Amino acid sequence: MAPDQPQPSSSMKLAVLTSGGDSAGMNAVVRAVVKAGILKGCEAWIVREGYEGLVRGNLEAEAPFAPEPLPEITMKLHDPSFIQNLRFGDGELLRDGTGDHPGGRSLKGRYIVRVGWDDVRGWFAEGGTLIGTARSAAFRTPEGRLTAAHNLIIEGIDALVVCGGDGSLTGADIFRSEWPKLVQQLRADGKITDEQVTRYGHLRIVGLVGSIDNDMSMTDMTIGASTALHRICEAIDNINSTASSHSRAFVLEVMGRHCGWLALQASISAGADFIFIPERPPKVNPWEDELCEAIKRHRAIGKRKTIVIVAEGAQDSDLKPIHAEYVKDVLAERLGLDTRVTTLGHTQRGGRPCAYDRILPTLQGVDAVNALLESTPETPSYMIGIRENKIIRVPLMEAVEMTRAVSAAISEKDFEKAMSFRDPEFSDSLQGFHIVSELETEKKLPLEQRMRIGIMHIGAPAGGMNAATRTAVRYCVRQGHTPLGISNGFRGLLDDNLHELSWLGVDSWMARGGSELGTNRTQPDIDLGTVAAKFQEYNLQALFMIGGFEAFTSLLILENGRKYYPAFHIPMVHLPATISNNVPMTEFSLGSDTSLNALVDACDAIKQSASASRNRVFVVETQGGRCGYLATVGALAVGANIVYTPEHGISLDTLRDDVKFLKRRYMLDVKGKSEGRIVIRYDHLTCVLRLCLINACNEQKRGRIVGIYHRCHHQILKEEGGSLFDSRQASLGHTLQGGVPSPMDRARAVRLSLKCMAFIEKHHNLMLQQPTKSRSADRESAAVITIQASSVQLVPVDEVVAHADMKNRRGKRTWWEGMKELVEALVARPQLI
Ligand code: ADP
Repeated sequence: MAPDQPQPSSSMKLAVLTSGGDSAGMNAVVRAVVKAGILKGCEAWIVREGYEGLVRGNLEAEAPFAPEPLPEITMKLHDPSFIQNLRFGDGELLRDGTGDHPGGRSLKGRYIVRVGWDDVRGWFAEGGTLIGTARSAAFRTPEGRLTAAHNLIIEGIDALVVCGGDGSLTGADIFRSEWPKLVQQLRADGKITDEQVTRYGHLRIVGLVGSIDNDMSMTDMTIGASTALHRICEAIDNINSTASSHSRAFVLEVMGRHCGWLALQASISAGADFIFIPERPPKVNPWEDELCEAIKRHRAIGKRKTIVIVAEGAQDSDLKPIHAEYVKDVLAERLGLDTRVTTLGHTQRGGRPCAYDRILPTLQGVDAVNALLESTPETPSYMIGIRENKIIRVPLMEAVEMTRAVSAAISEKDFEKAMSFRDPEFSDSLQGFHIVSELETEKKLPLEQRMRIGIMHIGAPAGGMNAATRTAVRYCVRQGHTPLGISNGFRGLLDDNLHELSWLGVDSWMARGGSELGTNRTQPDIDLGTVAAKFQEYNLQALFMIGGFEAFTSLLILENGRKYYPAFHIPMVHLPATISNNVPMTEFSLGSDTSLNALVDACDAIKQSASASRNRVFVVETQGGRCGYLATVGALAVGANIVYTPEHGISLDTLRDDVKFLKRRYMLDVKGKSEGRIVIRYDHLTCVLRLCLINACNEQKRGRIVGIYHRCHHQILKEEGGSLFDSRQASLGHTLQGGVPSPMDRARAVRLSLKCMAFIEKHHNLMLQQPTKSRSADRESAAVITIQASSVQLVPVDEVVAHADMKNRRGKRTWWEGMKELVEALVARPQLI
């Protein structure tokens, strides 16, 4: 914070509300704002039912309520004031949605409610919004906003976090700009004192975007959009099998009145055949011909199912709405297809938030509190967004205006302008969808530019490997290249296990987990000479490797091998795919999102079981090798109490503090109510822990310690937990590879795979310019495709080495380094030890 800015008062009261259409992740926003606010010394409040709750206030509250008695504290805490904010007892009423409690506590007539740390416990995993949302007509009127201002001042609220769509954020901006006038009016009406005028002269307000449509400009992603995409893809994956069984066509209507993001991403991730979105109406008029031609081509080669996705707001170039029912009629009447319509409706809003919709709102909620504390009368109201994997603040009104401009451009039929307001990834995705979904029979490239491209999976399976292969194959077919699938990596190549892949043959690969080609860890130096001979024998003119750290080292070996073997003088590219996310220089490898979701699913179930019987700490072991991505980001996504990462390791001191923290945490719980807590650890922790124990003891004690170290980590916790808590462990192992790849991994696979193909073509063309006999590939032509701050970069493999910790098989620097501290902050570890 700049020194000249006003220091926030430690007694600042901070409230959060959710407004407009609900979305998954709103509860995580409330949880993060409440926790971050308390950590910053503020009082945390929630407003029920959105702006309607602000207008209603607490004036009609039935009876004053007594805060729940605090636990008796005999221990000396690092931060004793923390206890004052532990709980006020309304968390359960909000969670159960009853509003009433048999013990007499009631939320009736109370809309602005103080909450504590434990009141938002467990909110992470719940869909929708537990504090309620509403569309408030009253708040749209000046009188309603005057009453809302009065209620806020009566309750002494200094700052407000609003989570909602563009309507809610517009409301927030209007409220803030009118605020000084409202305060003056209240004073003139004698409803507030001069003191209150001075104290509440400036309303601190900040917006978070909760919207399933991902329709807000100036942010890459809105809260709830990824979960909605999960719901849609689950539905389409299910429909796929029945469609194929009956050789049917399905027309699916998905949400998105002004924004086709959901429809587009769903179409890519689910491998749909045709799409209708508001921003880009079909180019051919009448579009019915274009649709039928495309579907006819697919059917002609033997495709048994047809999936067409229609966004709610889809329209033709004359702005005439395109309805799913009509599309169905076209397919049935013109092509004679047995066609059904499925409208997903509100199922898209519901359900447990996916991993991303827990992490994003947590990071944004924490920043929202910081933004409020730093706010001055001169600073604009901010919207918290995300750009290039970084949390950002943008002026709220600018973002809302730009969002509105998209709708305006569409209604003026200026579709190019509408597309230009979307981020570049949107048009990339649309182009990608056309490439992978359309069957082009006219080959694009002249004969000499066509290649035989080897495609190989290396290392352990990861979600998205098959989607990337499907994309590459379809691109190859379109361009006239020959895609050669090499089964079981370099081992398979040596065994002549390769075959040409076809457009239809890979059709159902999008949603498949594992590796359809078969994968293997064998490196090419098992027999580099023979590998080169096989390259020659099969006339491979390019190599596309999809895999983890082993794929990177394989590429390095092949690049170094160019000194001796001309067969390696071809473009070669590695697309990182590993649940460990340990390939250097890339922020996300394929599979990293799928595994995070698998971890979240497992931990939700474990936590439920842990709370059901008694106080229990579950030690959950993740995979990840010596890379802490899965453990660290997973811990944030599941709200773990402790996380052990390979980067930080473990010492006896930390173990002692961890035990102390857990004991204190259980002492502070409501008596008689069971709580489950999660500890996340990486898979090699036990060995490190044993070593610590042995090193820590002298000769005499060694025998006894050896006895202890044979016990597992969770047994140590169990023994230390005594009567306070029990401990069990669960090793998630290979389940973390996830059954079905997440939509994010599938969409990423398409985007990256197409870039890899373009890279291969570019370098092949460069080589074609050299004399045939002495063609040599330069270093740039052996590259790893990386995501760095959302931009995609192909980095020569020898450059990637400089960023690699080869011994520990991970990158030297990672973007999740600081997250362990945040995980600990959000369970108040520093306050309790
Ligand atoms: P969303 O936030 O999902 O876009 P709405 O557009 O329905 O949903 O807005 C939610 C609420 O925000 C409205 O019910 C209203 O109370 C408030 N709101 C929206 N627009 C305005 C406005 N122009 N002025 C004041 N309040 C508004």
